[in-house]
Amino acid sequence: MLSYRHAFHAGNHADVLKHCVLVQVLDHYTRKDKPFWYIDTHAGAGLYALDSGYAAQNAEFRDGIGRLWRRDDLPPAVARYVKLVHDLNQDGTLRRYPGSPALALPLLREDDRMRLCELHPGDHKLLLQTMQGNGRRVKIEAADGYAGLRALLPPAPRRAVVLIDPPYEQKQDYARVVDALKDSLQRFATGTYLLWYPLLPRPEPRLLQDRLARLAPESWLHATLSVQAPSGEGFGMHGSGLYVVNPPWTLPAALETVLPFLARVLGKDAGAAHTLAHRIP
Ligand code: SAM
Repeated sequence: MLSYRHAFHAGNHADVLKHCVLVQVLDHYTRKDKPFWYIDTHAGAGLYALDSGYAAQNAEFRDGIGRLWRRDDLPPAVARYVKLVHDLNQDGTLRRYPGSPALALPLLREDDRMRLCELHPGDHKLLLQTMQGNGRRVKIEAADGYAGLRALLPPAPRRAVVLIDPPYEQKQDYARVVDALKDSLQRFATGTYLLWYPLLPRPEPRLLQDRLARLAPESWLHATLSVQAPSGEGFGMHGSGLYVVNPPWTLPAALETVLPFLARVLGKDAGAAHTLAHRIP
């Protein structure tokens, strides 16, 4: 079953949290003069039109990137991410939103590599179009992201940032992401892993959080951003979480400012909130 299309959600509050942190992590990696791989297990279409097609239908971006677009009081880490979105919309009108691959691409250097998996045939085709012209720097597989990740680790340069970002349309994803993380840490313990998950009024996200807590890697950070109170009807995403293994040491301080700001600016009701926990020895 592959009914999920990220285009419906591009640029929403969950993308803002995930992409803001991704940019912080990639910036940190490029400060060291050593190549690395960026691995995206569930890459999506790469780039999204906001003024037509799926993204325009529910216009979720209006309450995400749309609320940040014209502000001049952004914390530095948010401003850095919004600047990258501006670079794709140079006439100043928000028409295009970068998925994780298009966001990462301008941050990578000549010797860095990108490895992307996307299983949906339609999004895979769009991803190929978006990322074309990058030669051997970018490799795209129409493959299962979990199997793809197993095959890629450990990466040749022994440095990697991995984004694990499945749609969770199938309940198995909640268990599979933790298994994938566990397996990946055995294959390559020093990589930086970003695992995104939705906050829903259902038991699965809570169980996932418990599993992550039991994983207890040496160095981790866990951030959540809720933009509204959970719905009483038991459906709808009220926020999302990001669990980072081997985060940059600079990330907690950046998020101390970013998360309250995002909760305030993207919040829709009094349920808007954030959490931040970390252990970085
Ligand atoms: N990472 C993207 C971003 O931040 O812009 C968004 C990815 S979206 C949340 C999840 C994507 O995973 C969808 O495009 C979906 O088609 C794809 N997908 C679903 N199951 C997959 C699997 N087993 N392996 C690889 N991709 C999969």
